[in-house]
Amino acid sequence: MNKFYVTTSIAYTNAPPHIGFALELIQADVLARYHRLLEEDVFFLTGTDEHGTKIAKAAEKNEKEPKDFVDEISGRFKKLTKILNISNNDFIRTTDEKRHWPAVKKVWLKLKENGDIYKKKYKGLYCVGCEAFISEKDLVDGKCPNHQKEPELIEEENYFFKLSKYSKEAKKAIEKDKIRIIPETRKNEVLSFIKQGVEDISCSRLREKLQWGIPVPDDDTQTVYVWFEALINYISALGYAEKNDKFKKLWPADIHCIGKDILRFHSLLWPAMLLSLGLNLPKVILVHGYLTSNGQKMSKSLGNVIDPFELVKKYSSTGSPQVGADAVRYYLLREIPSVKDGDFTYEKFEGRYNSDLASGVGNLLARVRVMADGIGFKENNLKVVDLKIKETRKNYKKSLEEFKFNESLKVIWDLISFSDKYIDKEKPWEKKEDSTQVLGNLLVALDNIAELLKPFLPETSEKIIKEIERDKKTGKFLNKRGKLLFPKV
Ligand SMILES: [Zn+2]
Repeated sequence: MNKFYVTTSIAYTNAPPHIGFALELIQADVLARYHRLLEEDVFFLTGTDEHGTKIAKAAEKNEKEPKDFVDEISGRFKKLTKILNISNNDFIRTTDEKRHWPAVKKVWLKLKENGDIYKKKYKGLYCVGCEAFISEKDLVDGKCPNHQKEPELIEEENYFFKLSKYSKEAKKAIEKDKIRIIPETRKNEVLSFIKQGVEDISCSRLREKLQWGIPVPDDDTQTVYVWFEALINYISALGYAEKNDKFKKLWPADIHCIGKDILRFHSLLWPAMLLSLGLNLPKVILVHGYLTSNGQKMSKSLGNVIDPFELVKKYSSTGSPQVGADAVRYYLLREIPSVKDGDFTYEKFEGRYNSDLASGVGNLLARVRVMADGIGFKENNLKVVDLKIKETRKNYKKSLEEFKFNESLKVIWDLISFSDKYIDKEKPWEKKEDSTQVLGNLLVALDNIAELLKPFLPETSEKIIKEIERDKKTGKFLNKRGKLLFPKV
């Protein structure tokens, strides 16, 4: 059995979850569920990144101890995975001293032993928003372009990681698609960044300036740099510290799903650390874009931040086949191209819901159900529908392999509208001789739609399967289900 290890990035717990992380969770969930459909041994990891200056400051602002603060926010992220129906197998927290810390310690000591960690005096500009040093050339009008804030000048003696030593090898791995960065534009972005020259990176901060973090194993005057230890979550959760069977089986990651703002950390720093550790590199880094709200950047001051909890609640009690989670999943997967920026508006959200879910798949299910009950159905005469299903499954597979989730949904909806047209053309309500066959064909189509929807809209899929399975009692049709309804493509 093939293994498939997929991760999201770990969410930074300085603020409650926003819709952008919901998008990342949902994309990773589609991949996890799809690979389960392929009967692979899937492990899906998500979690929270809980240390650093930004969090220490946020906790202080909220008059809370950092630990209490991150407990609460991490809890909200956990809740988000529940309400979005995310099928993660694990949830790692970087404050987990039993699981995460030992792996960080082991990595640190190994890198030091390799001569890849050394101490030096350093003076540099630090953006707290990015939790990263920022070079002069990246500033716009003297400010961090991501945070519109002037960075702080920091001068201290820190540990450094020999990133420069591994940049050539990392570059080669990216060029040769040993690490496939998707989309191509992001791959090129990283390569041109590396070409400009890579310097070693500070991997610790003075403990007197930053207590909220993991102490450097053999030097308690220093705290491990938050990014450096956060990346280790991908192996700490698997049991890297003990090098157990789970780790041996699952590493390397098959896919890291991330946002474009953290691309450099994942495509350069992380591979460099792995190279030093002598571990395999992740196979794919799938990079999604940003979400805007009504064409504008989401911000508290503009009051246009989309709260994923609110959004799920909005459609949770409509009584139609689609529950709130599926409505949100559908919008984010259908309307936002997986690797590009996208926009959210309530108008578009409602439009998609009404046209594609309620009157699209919901309506087809209701129509077929009522007629199959009233007129009856039998299996036969599949030719036309069968061809369409084969074509659908082929295109579906292709789009998923290219990570074009919106295309996969278009392909499914194409089968839905095909089925609608088939009903209109065959008019089974006229109870012609072959009406029962027509309805049999439609049930096959619906069953396929349900199957293909599984990774995308798990509850809708289950609902359809339940509805058409009720007919098990009334005829032979579904006894042959396994053979008939799942033709291999
Ligand atoms: Zn910044």
